[in-house]
Amino acid sequence: MQRFLAWISNGRLQCIWELGIMNGQSVTNNKISGGNVMSQAKIFKLLSEAYGLTWSGGIAAEVIDGCPVTLKEDRYYVQVSAYMPERVYEAKHEIFNEQMKAVKGVKCGFDKKTSRITTVLSQPNRVVEQYGAIREIIKQYAAPYVEEDKCPYCGQGECDMAAIYNDQYRRVHVRCHQYHTDRTRDVVLSGQGNLAMGIIGALAGAVLFMAIALAIGIFAERSYGWFFVLATFAALGGYKLFHGPYGRTGMVTVTLCSILSMVLYLFCEMVYLIAQYYELTIGEVLKQWPAVIQIAFSPDNLAESWFQLIFFLGGLAWFLIKRPLSKQKVVGTMDVMDDFNRAL
Ligand SMILES: [Zn+2]
Repeated sequence: MQRFLAWISNGRLQCIWELGIMNGQSVTNNKISGGNVMSQAKIFKLLSEAYGLTWSGGIAAEVIDGCPVTLKEDRYYVQVSAYMPERVYEAKHEIFNEQMKAVKGVKCGFDKKTSRITTVLSQPNRVVEQYGAIREIIKQYAAPYVEEDKCPYCGQGECDMAAIYNDQYRRVHVRCHQYHTDRTRDVVLSGQGNLAMGIIGALAGAVLFMAIALAIGIFAERSYGWFFVLATFAALGGYKLFHGPYGRTGMVTVTLCSILSMVLYLFCEMVYLIAQYYELTIGEVLKQWPAVIQIAFSPDNLAESWFQLIFFLGGLAWFLIKRPLSKQKVVGTMDVMDDFNRAL
């Protein structure tokens, strides 16, 4: 280490390593949990046997008297939701929450934005009974009004099909759903999209992530390791926002841009540290960029940043394992969701 320091600029940097800035990250926030997947799967299995739900890919669903009901795996439980007009919920929720109480179920809530009544199922031993109570509530208070729930593709009524739309089981039109899924399959499979824009988007995401990470480091005077798990998501978000094509090109672009965000972060962090410590301007430090690079990417500094790097690699590993830009993977998921299609 010393030789870089001596070489950089008349030995003024020899103490940079003693600063220990950016150390001492807390691990108390490190609560990454996959949830209680075992018991959610058990809940789905029990309900499928009792009520014949369609169940696939973390979603289960059925149509009750024309009313599509979505059951979704959440972190710790299964969330049930179905359309209900807000006025009906307001007028009737006290009545039907008594019914929920009778089966020791969780009270129903209401999502105003989507006009959906919601509740959760979390106890495998009571779940059949509880879901039975919800089904009665839906039959009585939701199903009579389903015609008011418009097709999310076109905003019109008179829907003739139930299908998965944005992770929700919805009433849609056959023609709208068909058109949309065909188009999406086309875009994914053909590798259509604008690679140049995709790259710009991924770069923008990477730079934005780096700037935020740096701002946190500077203003909070502390770098949060877990935050670095977001580096890859930022690049992925930018890439998708700017319509980069699916396929291997996309996987490679996002991987490279997220690595670039980490590289940029380490570089800028070091520029900042050196400028701070020696009361130099950023411009003066940047003139010494080859030396900054050598310090920033020296084994010593990388070792100092191990906590950030582990989270960064974790996010990248997630991306490489999940392959959200893989053509087969995306189309495969769409095919699975087609199992839910039902005529109304
Ligand atoms: Zn429609």
